[in-house]
Amino acid sequence: MPERVGFFRTAREIEAAREAERDYDRRRNAESETRWLYGTARWKAKRADQLRREPLCCRCRENGLVTPATIANHQWRHDGDPVLFWSIPLESTCQPCHDGPIQAEERAAARVGGVVESPGG
Ligand SMILES: [Zn+2]
Repeated sequence: MPERVGFFRTAREIEAAREAERDYDRRRNAESETRWLYGTARWKAKRADQLRREPLCCRCRENGLVTPATIANHQWRHDGDPVLFWSIPLESTCQPCHDGPIQAEERAAARVGGVVESPGG
């Protein structure tokens, strides 16, 4: 084995960081490529079906609150993959839950080495 292990590890770390950054940009670009799917009749029907079956915000329900849901949210990231876009299960949420905790979770998950913290414990 070469003795300059430290050098190689550093180079690998730099490359890993670059790759993580490229990966993040790729995912962001990919997600914007599937944004148009939200305008399709197929999505509107799927969204309406989700809200009909689960009309209340599931995040508020966990906190003992009863709030009408207005958003059919993908339960995990589809990263712009159209197959995942249509197959990932949905959850019903209200706008404040979607704009607050959920987007904060997604941002935290997207940060390399980030720690996901749930507000309020
Ligand atoms: Zn809510």
